[in-house]
Amino acid sequence: MEVGGSGIGKVTEKLRENVRKIPEYVPGKSIEEVKRKYGLEKVVKLASNENPYGPSPKVREVLKNFDRFHIYPSPKEIEELTERISEYLGVERDRIVVGAGIDGILETVFKMFVDPRDEVVIPIPSFPYYHTLTAVMGGREVVVRRKKDFRIDEDKVIESITDKTKIILICSPNNPTGNVEDVNAVRAIVESCDALVFVDEAYAEFSDENLMELLEYENVVIARTFSKAFGLANLRIGYAVMHPELRKAYMKVSTPFPVSSIAISAAIASFEDLDYVKSCVERIKAERKRIYSELEGTVRVYPSQANFLFFEAPLKADVLVEELMRRGVIVRDCSKFIGCSPFSVRVSVGREEENSLFLEALRDVLG
Ligand SMILES: *Cc1c(COP(=O)(O)O)cnc(C)c1O
Repeated sequence: MEVGGSGIGKVTEKLRENVRKIPEYVPGKSIEEVKRKYGLEKVVKLASNENPYGPSPKVREVLKNFDRFHIYPSPKEIEELTERISEYLGVERDRIVVGAGIDGILETVFKMFVDPRDEVVIPIPSFPYYHTLTAVMGGREVVVRRKKDFRIDEDKVIESITDKTKIILICSPNNPTGNVEDVNAVRAIVESCDALVFVDEAYAEFSDENLMELLEYENVVIARTFSKAFGLANLRIGYAVMHPELRKAYMKVSTPFPVSSIAISAAIASFEDLDYVKSCVERIKAERKRIYSELEGTVRVYPSQANFLFFEAPLKADVLVEELMRRGVIVRDCSKFIGCSPFSVRVSVGREEENSLFLEALRDVLG
């Protein structure tokens, strides 16, 4: 049977126009693909900001005994995790939601707020999924260029806000640039409007500063995740803190079972071993410092408060990334991120030997 021919076969024409307009998603290359393509035995991936040490051994222990595969997750489990998050952050339980990663939480929050033609303010460059979600909802994205050091320009952000603005996205530390935002700059934005200020703190554990004090405002949501410092990226679990009334609306919109019991148990177990998380973070920070000083002489590298470094090399990013791949190192080409230069590259901080391989390969490419 011919697909996409005449008659009723053109289902793709029924797709929403917003969806058709979004460029196709191209995932990064996997270690296996790169090994095959270049005939390499050793390949390291420093492209997705994962914790290279994985989760605490306590997580593996708990999951070994898991036996409730056939039962939907129970509200009790969410309550227990919520209690732990509440202790960890020092915030009230009735302000906390748990979701399928920050990505899943963002999706729910966009469903709560963004009607077609509503405006979403995105300081650029930032996390690409913000643009995707705005497009999916039929919202209008209002992009605001960051300053030279990639801090947000709060005056320009405030100027960009209209009656139509529903969400303002603040990512701190920012992906892909690694800088944190000044709390008073964000406070000025929050106080200037009634729009929702969504603060994405996916990398908070790696940073000396955070924006938690802004939770005193009813129009602020702060989101965190177990994907990065806690080493649970594959389990899809994150959380956010918001005003209790917003939480009520969130619960109406969320899918009924956004996270699995496996993910919840793993998250609870990792809270029981925060020393482990801390030791991973310390090792990553030490390596971040080492890579930064090694890069300083060769490329334009920016200070980072996250588990990755952003730099601009004297070579186009697509060429550089390909050359590094040929040498067994996968990093992220950021040249297609909205608001990035053609020279933009992001490298995750891995284990010491992985980072050394990256530095060696880079030296080799740049000669
Ligand atoms: C990795 C990342 C996310 C996604 O986190 P999940 O909790 O795995 O969905 C969200 N925001 C930023 C800025 C990220 O870098």
